[in-house]
Amino acid sequence: MENFNVDTLVIGGGIAGMQAALDLADQGFQTALVDHEPTIGGKMITLSKVFPTLDCCSCITTPKMSSVAHHPNIQLLTYCDLQSIQESDSGFRVAIVQKPRYVDAHKCTGCRKCEYECPILIPNPYDRGLGAYHAIRVPFSTAVPQTAVLDMDNCILCGKCEKVCPTQAVTFTQKPETFEVQTRTIVLASGFELTPLEAKKEYGGGLLHNVIDPLMMERFLAPTGPYGRVLRPGDGKEPTSIAYVQCAGSRDQSLGVEYCSRVCCMYAIKQAMLISGALPMAEITIYYMDIRTFGKGYEQFYQNAQAMGVEFIRGKVAAIHEDDQQNPVVKVELTEDGRVVERTHDLVVLSLGMVPSPGSAGILELPLGDDKFISVPAPNARPCHTTRPGIFVTGTAMGPMDIVDSIISASSAAAATSAYIRAHQNGQASPKPQEEAVYA
Ligand SMILES: Cc1cc2nc3c(=O)[nH]c(=O)nc-3n(C[C@H](O)[C@H](O)[C@H](O)COP(=O)(O)OP(=O)(O)OC[C@H]3O[C@@H](n4cnc5c(N)ncnc54)[C@H](O)[C@@H]3O)c2cc1C
Repeated sequence: MENFNVDTLVIGGGIAGMQAALDLADQGFQTALVDHEPTIGGKMITLSKVFPTLDCCSCITTPKMSSVAHHPNIQLLTYCDLQSIQESDSGFRVAIVQKPRYVDAHKCTGCRKCEYECPILIPNPYDRGLGAYHAIRVPFSTAVPQTAVLDMDNCILCGKCEKVCPTQAVTFTQKPETFEVQTRTIVLASGFELTPLEAKKEYGGGLLHNVIDPLMMERFLAPTGPYGRVLRPGDGKEPTSIAYVQCAGSRDQSLGVEYCSRVCCMYAIKQAMLISGALPMAEITIYYMDIRTFGKGYEQFYQNAQAMGVEFIRGKVAAIHEDDQQNPVVKVELTEDGRVVERTHDLVVLSLGMVPSPGSAGILELPLGDDKFISVPAPNARPCHTTRPGIFVTGTAMGPMDIVDSIISASSAAAATSAYIRAHQNGQASPKPQEEAVYA
């Protein structure tokens, strides 16, 4: 990969990064979008449907991914790690490492013949390990780019993929390649991770067979998921009683996550409604401290779930253990009358919270707030400005938020970035407005 110059470098290809990149590119700014995964799409591409409209998630995300890939002003850099960043006269010099795919991206057509031939199956991270994929594969059917990647740690070097590839794209000798991007501005959109499933020991996450995280449930409910239906991971049984434990990773001093993650109430209610459709006879219970439905149409969504028969129980879950049938037993103190009761379910989902993705903040030398997300010194006046001039932050890299707010924050970061570039115009890479937006 050759060194090149851009007006802006967007770090992270989730919904926030994609939206910021598209907004800037549509204004004519030369934009690079870098993601450390082999595909863009972030968490959103793995979701089933979105609250509060229950629109199909990949129907919204896939066209955006495709617009990013085909935009003439966007250079897409996937499977790349940031190595270092230095200030320069005209902005920042960013060293980036292209990790080896062991597949020539220029030759690969995404035909997946290598994948069908590969004898090795490994847990698929896009399905939260519930399903399997091959050691060489295109990550999923709507991945962008449609380029195969080989996991060398699990490859047995049988050579079957190399033999079957019609374009001779497989190359076992590929090495990491370092190149430099000279950019005037940076937009950080590195997103979030869930609080660890096993963090709260008394809930048994990671130990009990049928206690899962909410992204696993998204994969059960997604049409592209591993089984196409909801099953207990412990024994493959169809569950008839499913419970959600709210605030299982947020608003909890013992975890160091004292804030509210803002999306957990809504995703639990959404999943409960979707399960009601998938398993009409199932009983669904949500154990909560208080329900926070702050967004437009969200309170109505909550009321709809109640009307559909989802049971809401106000109480703090103290512990979960397993009976001899692998059924999780939830011990809960009921807030209304102080009683402590135990209830048995087939499957329990821990509504885990959001913590920032590790990595880029350190390289960008950005200070963090008390919540460990990127610090935004003047959130009311300049909500996307970091402490470093020319570096902006958006989406869940700045704090927990839903998709609507991530998109609003991305367009806000793009506007701030565009204003900054115009104000610091020094004759290089001047904006070339596009006549037509290339995405709807
Ligand atoms: C279970 C669950 C269900 C949800 N359901 C809904 C819903 O129905 N409706 C709704 O509005 N919201 C929902 N949300 C919230 C939604 O997922 C987020 O608002 C949204 O995904 C945030 O997008 P993002 O771009 O900020 O972050 P992400 O989706 O996390 O994207 C970040 C991107 O940055 C990349 N990245 C990270 N670090 C680096 C690095 N160092 N270098 C390069 N790239 C990097 C990642 O690979 C990723 O592609 C849900 C959340 C959860 C957990």
